[in-house]
Amino acid sequence: MGEPRYRADQVFRGLHQRRLRSFEEMTDLPKALRAKLEEHAAAATITVESRYLSDDGTRRYLMKTRGGHPVEAVFIPTENRDTICFSSQSGCPLKCDFCLTAKLGLISNLTVGEIIEQIVIVLNDVYGVAGATPHGTNLVAMGAGEPFLNFDNLIKALEILSDPNGLFIVPGRVTVSTAGIVPRIYDFAKLERRPNLAISLSAPGDELRDRLMPINKRWNIDELLTAAKEFERTLKRGERFTFEYVLLDGVNDTERHAKELVNLIERHELRRVKINLIPHNPAEQLDYFPSTRESVEQFKRTLEARGISAFVRRPRGRDIFAACGQLAAKEGPNLVRITSLVGV
Ligand code: SF4
Repeated sequence: MGEPRYRADQVFRGLHQRRLRSFEEMTDLPKALRAKLEEHAAAATITVESRYLSDDGTRRYLMKTRGGHPVEAVFIPTENRDTICFSSQSGCPLKCDFCLTAKLGLISNLTVGEIIEQIVIVLNDVYGVAGATPHGTNLVAMGAGEPFLNFDNLIKALEILSDPNGLFIVPGRVTVSTAGIVPRIYDFAKLERRPNLAISLSAPGDELRDRLMPINKRWNIDELLTAAKEFERTLKRGERFTFEYVLLDGVNDTERHAKELVNLIERHELRRVKINLIPHNPAEQLDYFPSTRESVEQFKRTLEARGISAFVRRPRGRDIFAACGQLAAKEGPNLVRITSLVGV
């Protein structure tokens, strides 16, 4: 546009560090330039359709891209840190049997801008427009979609999010979760500044995993864990990666499954892995039920007895269908819609 270079820096800061959603608000730019930018570009493309607030403080956002595609993000507050769970795709092409998002199928890959914008919208809602960049916010790519099927956009978005002149959310505060797109795990392992990796496993054997997560028919457990081992080799000191295991009552949560899981991990000589146990979040359209508290605890004890770190992930925002595997639910008994959404 024939403008001096520092103007680009101002626009970048305006969009990312100050989280402004229109060029008009960038009052450090000359009026004529602001008008020119408004004419040629869009500072914001995503709109918020509705926001739901859970009893536990979790907030769920239903948004739409300019093309009308649904996007969801969830804000999860805890005592020490806040986490934003964002989407990498609108809908999801994978057909995990325990997941409601799967019912949507793939609608579109999100652009780099759309991935970032969700996070800006949530931050503005929680901390106020143009509020200070909150330090300690964690990001997880565990919303709708399979992040590794939108690999390039995701990595570019994470690079921008980590910019010190922008939101400055460094890769160490980010976790990307994959259902097992094996070639991308190898690509991910080669990245120099990369986020943490979580692999959604949810079954200790191929027969069951084929049924629960059909992506297993493309890359089976053996191929997946071989890639995980390769990733493990690239970890720096003190780093670990995660297996996520959704516990489904009577399906994959028995003592036998826990023992098979340990054997699997031992057979592949995975030593720097921790297991996140996720009690399933029920939904009417899904045929599964959450494991009982006793089976969750027993499963955890079996892993720990064999020296494997296991954590139970407390479900958050279940009442507003914001919990894992629930994104895409539109209705629910406790769905309280908050309409006063200011400045996002
Ligand atoms: S669990 Fe994740 S990868 Fe599987 S269908 Fe749901 S959104 Fe897609």
